[in-house]
Amino acid sequence: MHCGCATLGGMQFNATTARGRFLRCLLLRQPAGALIVCVICAVCASAQAHFRLQTRQVVEGRLKAFSTKNSEREALIRKWFAESGCKDANLSEQALDRKLPPNVICVLPGETQQAIVVGAHTDHVDSSGDGVVDNWTGAALLPSLLYSLSAQPRHHTLVFVGFSGEEKGLVGSRYYVDHLTSEQRAHIEGMVNFDSLGLGPTEVWASHADKALLDALASVAMASRLPVTAVNVDNLGTADSESFARYQIPRITLHSVTQQTWSILHSPFDKMAAIRMNDYYDSYKLISEYLAYLDDALKPPPAKPGSAAR
Ligand SMILES: [Zn+2]
Repeated sequence: MHCGCATLGGMQFNATTARGRFLRCLLLRQPAGALIVCVICAVCASAQAHFRLQTRQVVEGRLKAFSTKNSEREALIRKWFAESGCKDANLSEQALDRKLPPNVICVLPGETQQAIVVGAHTDHVDSSGDGVVDNWTGAALLPSLLYSLSAQPRHHTLVFVGFSGEEKGLVGSRYYVDHLTSEQRAHIEGMVNFDSLGLGPTEVWASHADKALLDALASVAMASRLPVTAVNVDNLGTADSESFARYQIPRITLHSVTQQTWSILHSPFDKMAAIRMNDYYDSYKLISEYLAYLDDALKPPPAKPGSAAR
């Protein structure tokens, strides 16, 4: 995550408030009981047909293969995109104006031009620690998520982007979204961002998330029984998702930071030892299912519904 604060004293979490709001959101589903459960199961079942999982050995191995050089990180993601089935024609680098490594982009074509952008920043702060949590945990998942979603045809075109220069002020994500045409931006139905996973169970920055994306996450969490709660980081810093919010593109950031662990970011303690591998692999499973679900859930309704069944 990119922190704009010089000191840590002013940072606050409103985890209690956010958690309460999120739980209410889930509880609101209760009165409709049976019907809601049926809907969730139906979507879940169809989503399950649309993703597969990379092994824990691979996911863990990629995390442990981190480099401390940002340029090598970008090159690793590009190599693993190719190994995960990204064809040459769909794999590219986007050079930035500044002397930073490029953004790395893999496009997984769908049946339509409607797009979901799946992003994580590849760089880390130079000052201290290894930047494993922030944000090799997010970047290293991108090729495994590509693998997860590439087995079956998709409605949406999925665009996987490893953003450069996040810690310099969201440089890569701003450059990416600024250089899309207005038509390309209009095709993006959601931007799903991962930053600083693996410190514990999956968290969501609910106060800066699109409501439909947040509701979809709640549905997937309930159906998969994988944990996710809301921890807002408004006063801690920002993330690449906010570059998309500037254009009113629906966005959501998943992380794992809590009041107890946030001080690990940008500190000497941001190392492999901080990772809870069970939680990290759970985050991978949850996000795989979430992306498969979104591909279904964000489909526009049929233009000409058939005659009503009796
Ligand atoms: Zn950071």
